[in-house]
Amino acid sequence: MTSMIEVLNLKKSFGSLDVLEKVSFSVNLGEVVAVIGPSGSGKSTMLRSLVHLEEITGGSIRIEGESLVEDGEYPSAARIRVITSGMGMVFQNFNLFPHLTVQDNLELAPKALKKINLAEIRLRSTELLKKVGLSDKADVYPANLSGGQKQRVAIARALMMNPKILLFDEPTSALDPELTGEVLRVIQQLAEEKMTMIIVTHEMNFARDVADRVIFMDKGEIAEMGTPEQIFENPQLERTKSFLNHIS
Ligand code: ADP
Ligand code: MG
Repeated sequence: MTSMIEVLNLKKSFGSLDVLEKVSFSVNLGEVVAVIGPSGSGKSTMLRSLVHLEEITGGSIRIEGESLVEDGEYPSAARIRVITSGMGMVFQNFNLFPHLTVQDNLELAPKALKKINLAEIRLRSTELLKKVGLSDKADVYPANLSGGQKQRVAIARALMMNPKILLFDEPTSALDPELTGEVLRVIQQLAEEKMTMIIVTHEMNFARDVADRVIFMDKGEIAEMGTPEQIFENPQLERTKSFLNHIS
């Protein structure tokens, strides 16, 4: 099995506040890992650490076998960019550029790279808008989209860079309930295509359906980890049971 992500004894503090402690897990090629847990348990910080939006305080992270950080030591900025370049991230609040049309949102990052020609970029953005069901919104600005449409644009934008790993931080938490389905279906389709993904979510039914493995985080640590069956049907810890009882 090819290991895409390996996290070993990750520790993260903000000043004197210890937010993550001894977090260790790995994600294999094609695997979908759902991360659940109460607000403030460190889920976002963990995810952000993987793409170097946060610098960790200690421990190691390897992406496709390459050290993003080893025992708290980071390589050069250029090296970090190379190592994180295969990962895409989708945020709760979409983070679209409001002054750019949908298609320009998709094309901004690949154009900046100057590695692929414009015709190819246009072909790919057109194809990805079709994939997320938004071919008719190419020339629209984000303000004129629903939340579900914005999030589908954000997913298409992340896919423009051909990521090997996609990270989602509560992709449906900002959406009205009737709009979550259209976003979850796109993620489900990516899972069927064997995209390697980590999905932080409060959608327990979705986690159960789509995840190969579930991580329950509590108070900055991985409290429990297992298959959806193990975590949802047969949780071992009282705090896992309590969390699941309160959320559903
Ligand atoms: P979750 O995503 O599970 O809700 P977070 O990773 O956002 O949890 O936050 C975990 C803890 O870290 C919280 O106590 C939060 O207040 C704290 N935290 C997150 N980001 C920062 C920051 N930039 N500075 C200080 N504390 C932070
Ligand atoms: Mg969060």
